[in-house]
Amino acid sequence: MSDDVETGAVGGEVVLVRWGEIFLKGDNRGFFERALVDRATRALSRSAGARVVKTHGRLVVWPGEAGARRAVRALERVFGISSVSPARVVARDVAVISAAAVELARAEAPRHARPTFKVESRRSDKRFPTGSMELSRTVGAAVVGALTLPVDVHNPAFTIGVEIGFEHAFVFAEVVPGPGGLPVGVTGRVELLLSGGIDSPVAGWLMMKRGCALGATYFHSFPYTGEKTEDKVARLAAQLAAWQLEPLRLTIVPFTDAQKQLRDLSGDGKLAVVLYRRAMLRVAERIAARAGAAAPATAEALAQVASQTLENLAVIGAAATLPVLRPCLGHDKLETIALAQRIGTYETSIEPYDDCCSLFVPDHPETRAKLATVTNLESRLDITAMTDDLASRAVTRICPP
Ligand code: ATP
Ligand code: MG
Repeated sequence: MSDDVETGAVGGEVVLVRWGEIFLKGDNRGFFERALVDRATRALSRSAGARVVKTHGRLVVWPGEAGARRAVRALERVFGISSVSPARVVARDVAVISAAAVELARAEAPRHARPTFKVESRRSDKRFPTGSMELSRTVGAAVVGALTLPVDVHNPAFTIGVEIGFEHAFVFAEVVPGPGGLPVGVTGRVELLLSGGIDSPVAGWLMMKRGCALGATYFHSFPYTGEKTEDKVARLAAQLAAWQLEPLRLTIVPFTDAQKQLRDLSGDGKLAVVLYRRAMLRVAERIAARAGAAAPATAEALAQVASQTLENLAVIGAAATLPVLRPCLGHDKLETIALAQRIGTYETSIEPYDDCCSLFVPDHPETRAKLATVTNLESRLDITAMTDDLASRAVTRICPP
C-alpha cells in the first residue's frame, strides 16, 4: 500500500473502491482507512499481483492476473466498502477520456430499452485544469456526437463515471454495491452464540458488518444432537470466516449433562429454555473473556418464539454481566431468511439438524418468566461450578474460510 500513487499501466482495468461511513469518523479516519486497505488486501490475497492503493477518498485496486471481474467478486465481501466499479485506466487527457467514454457507452446502450445517459466527473487531483462540470459536459458531448444518445441528467438509464487521479484517469459505467458497514475489527470483538439454525449466522454477519471480529460458541448436546450437527455448525462458521476474511475460532461446549440438570431443575419444563439460555450466556462470557471479546451476541428476535418475549429476554439477559447484543431483534423471520440467502448460509442452515433446545421442552413454555423464580430455582444448583466445568471442557476448532 502507498498513498496518492497509482502506479500501474495505462490501458488496463482497475477496480475503484468507495466507502461511506468511514468518512464520518473524524480523527479516527486514518485508522478506519488503514483497516479497509488491510481487509481489501486480504480479500485479494489469492489474486497474484493484485495491489491496493489508497488515493484521495478512494482505493484503487490493480487486480493483477485474475482481472477486474474476479477482484469485484472478492471486494463484494469486504465490509466498509459501499460500492466498487471496474474502470478503464486512461491518460489524463480529455480527448482520450472522451474516446474511452464513447466506447463504454457503445457497449452499455444496448442493455437499456431507452438508453439515456449522463456523465459524472470527479477530480481527486484538483490541479487538473478542466473542472468537473466542464469535463462532464465535454465528455457527454463526445458521446452524443458519436452515438446520438440522449442525455438525461435527472433520470439516466446509465451513467458514465470519470475520475481524475494523480497519474491516470479512470472511466467506468458500472457501480456494484458493496456490503457497507465498517471494516471487520475496528469496533472490537464479540462472541457469537452460534447454533445450527437460520438466524445465528445472520446475527454474526450483522455484527461483522458493524466492524466486529467474531469468535463463536456452540453448545453441543451429544448424543441428542449428533456429530452431523457439530459439523454443520463448523461449516456455518467457515462461511462466516469467508466474510471475516480470516479463520473463525469455534468453541464447542459439551452441554448434555448441564442441560439435563437444568431440565430436571425446571420441574414441568416450562422454564427449561430460559435456564438453558442463561447457562449458555454465562459460559459464553467466560469464553469471551478468554478471547478478549467485549460482549456475547445472539440471534434472538423479539417475540419470534416463546423464549423471546420481552419478559424472557430480560430474565435471560440478567444472567450476563456484559451487554447481550441482539442484532436480529427487530427482524421479521422473512427478513432474516432473505439475509441468510444473500450471505450464503441459508442452504446450510436448512439442512436437517437437531436443535438442542427443543429437547425435553413442553409444548407451552413459560412466556413471562420471573427473575426471582428463576434465580430461586438456580440456587438449588452450584451454578458457578457448572459454568466453570462447561468452560473447562470446551474444545476449540479453527474454521478457515
Ligand atoms: P437460530 O436460528 O440461530 O437457532 P432461533 O431464532 O432459532 O435462532 P433459538 O433457537 O430460540 O433462536 O435460540 C436463540 C439464540 O440462542 C440463537 O439465535 C443462538 O444465538 C443461541 N443458541 C440457541 N441454541 C444454541 C446452541 N446450541 N449453541 C449456541 N447458541 C445457541
Ligand atoms: Mg434455533
